[in-house]
Amino acid sequence: MPTIAYKIRNTLYLNITNRCSNDCTFCIKFNTRTFDENDLFLDEEPSFHEIMAAIAAFNEFDEIVFCGYGESLIRLEIVMQVAEAVKQHYSVPVRINTDGQANLLHGRNIIPELAGIVDCLSVSLNAPDAETYQRLCHSPFGAAGFTALCDFIRLAAAEIPEVIASVVHVPALDVDACRTLALSLGASFRVRPYYPG
Ligand code: SF4
Repeated sequence: MPTIAYKIRNTLYLNITNRCSNDCTFCIKFNTRTFDENDLFLDEEPSFHEIMAAIAAFNEFDEIVFCGYGESLIRLEIVMQVAEAVKQHYSVPVRINTDGQANLLHGRNIIPELAGIVDCLSVSLNAPDAETYQRLCHSPFGAAGFTALCDFIRLAAAEIPEVIASVVHVPALDVDACRTLALSLGASFRVRPYYPG
């Protein structure tokens, strides 16, 4: 049975799509359909009502995070509806984990649409330069993908209360250069573990 909402410690994660705007070499969805014993391969994308029902099945949580086997901001309208409803009914912080390609995907700056309903954006930086990014993340936009990612982080840092730029610690990655770039864009920095396939 595919999982829409799953809890780790006291954070509730939402898995609302399997579509991605990148094709990352290190993505764990290419190795396993389950994460923390949850089947994250969806038969179909859940509706607003199905997502809210999945959230309501849990009694208690401290935070909602859009993070599953896909890029949530591909479904921008649903993300905004759910984030607004969570704010109204649960009064907990909302975070989106994203690959930062949404402004390219939607052809406009979407950050102002998230301001006020999203408390934190955790953006996958993953590289200190466009060449490394393309090698690791295979952006369909080519080098423009990395430029747009950096712009997304900079714009988000000006409007969203907390912005984290993260990297997956793949072998040979220049983590210090990534940290320097993240801080220069106005974000904090986080290193995530690498799970070799
Ligand atoms: S954007 Fe995220 S979910 Fe999509 S391929 Fe990359 S790591 Fe996987």
